[in-house]
Amino acid sequence: MDETFHLDTLAVRAGQERSQFGEHAEALYLTSSFVFESAAQAAARFSGAEGGNVYSRFTNPTVTMLQERLAALEGAAACVATASGMAAILATVMALCQSGDHIVAARGIFGASQQLFGAIMPRFGVETSFVAGNDPAAFKAALKPNTRLVFIETPSNPLTEVYDIAALAAVAHGAGALLVVDNCFCSPALQRPLEFGADLVVHSATKYLDGQGRVLGGAVCGATAPVEEVFKFLRTAGPTLSPFNAWVILKGLETLKIRMQAQSASALELARRLEAHPAVARVFYPGLPSHPQHALALRQQATGGAIVAFAVKGGRAEAWRVVDHCKLLSITANLGDTKTTITHPASTTHGRISAEARAEAGITEGLLRVAVGLEAVDDIEADLRRGLDA
Ligand SMILES: *Cc1c(COP(=O)(O)O)cnc(C)c1O
Repeated sequence: MDETFHLDTLAVRAGQERSQFGEHAEALYLTSSFVFESAAQAAARFSGAEGGNVYSRFTNPTVTMLQERLAALEGAAACVATASGMAAILATVMALCQSGDHIVAARGIFGASQQLFGAIMPRFGVETSFVAGNDPAAFKAALKPNTRLVFIETPSNPLTEVYDIAALAAVAHGAGALLVVDNCFCSPALQRPLEFGADLVVHSATKYLDGQGRVLGGAVCGATAPVEEVFKFLRTAGPTLSPFNAWVILKGLETLKIRMQAQSASALELARRLEAHPAVARVFYPGLPSHPQHALALRQQATGGAIVAFAVKGGRAEAWRVVDHCKLLSITANLGDTKTTITHPASTTHGRISAEARAEAGITEGLLRVAVGLEAVDDIEADLRRGLDA
């Protein structure tokens, strides 16, 4: 598709192939396998001499449409879809690392990613060093001659720390490693890490790409060669995306930008109001001038995003009081939905790590994380104020 089209246009149109019926919406090819005209064609398709679909663990036209659309949005040469966000991260490591290799990852990454790198991959001889600080020099110090990947999320969860993608890309490339960015919190509507020098973007499509909390999915975007390696792993090992989920996510992408803009605008407004509330000790939101990496966020991101973290004065009892007074907000650790969610990280997503590790990561007992959806900001604020005013 014409690459000069704006992101809004690509999100609605890129990648669509029409069948012989000329359907207007993207077609859902709910089929596990594909038939051939002849024995010779079957042989040619299997050998790769002829392009085309064989089996939906390899390729499927609906999944291909999603991959092309997401590649267009990320400005990537290639994209491969996966069964979930974790499948995207697993496939990236399995495709690009081997026994004896080393990864450098930010300490605050998604809990399952920490488990994958810290507890599972070492059984296969791939070790990870977790970097505590948000400083390119700290990442550089953790590099080893066998480092293959540097892995970050920006903004981070739940404190919305913003990492400098260009600086970390330079650090990774200096050691011959690739920079992988989990772009879950911003989505390509707000941030395109490849433009800042990242090599690969991984997604949990479960979050903002679907955007309405319906299906699991994931993707890896980047240059053709590494994405091809990830694809080869997936077609053999199997954690590929269901065509049904691909179809749902394709339709989700059509509203990605307007959702992200609306949810970000509400998040900024909510962050401002929370910052002014006497029961709130501190607000963490990249769109606020008080955020430590506000200037960097303005360079990397179109908005501050839709996640607001804040610490109430007091501890767990005061934070839980806010959660338990919510009648509208959903009490769940999920995010990226049109419905606003609230979570208390210290007792849920980060509940299983030691109190010392939590303190080191800045996850205090008073901290709450709100993933702002599409409800009116006045209603979201009123729901939070019930507990805050109490
Ligand atoms: C949810 C999430 C994942 C994992 O995605 P799944 O689709 O649940 O497997 C990875 N990274 C981040 C930042 C997430 O929020």
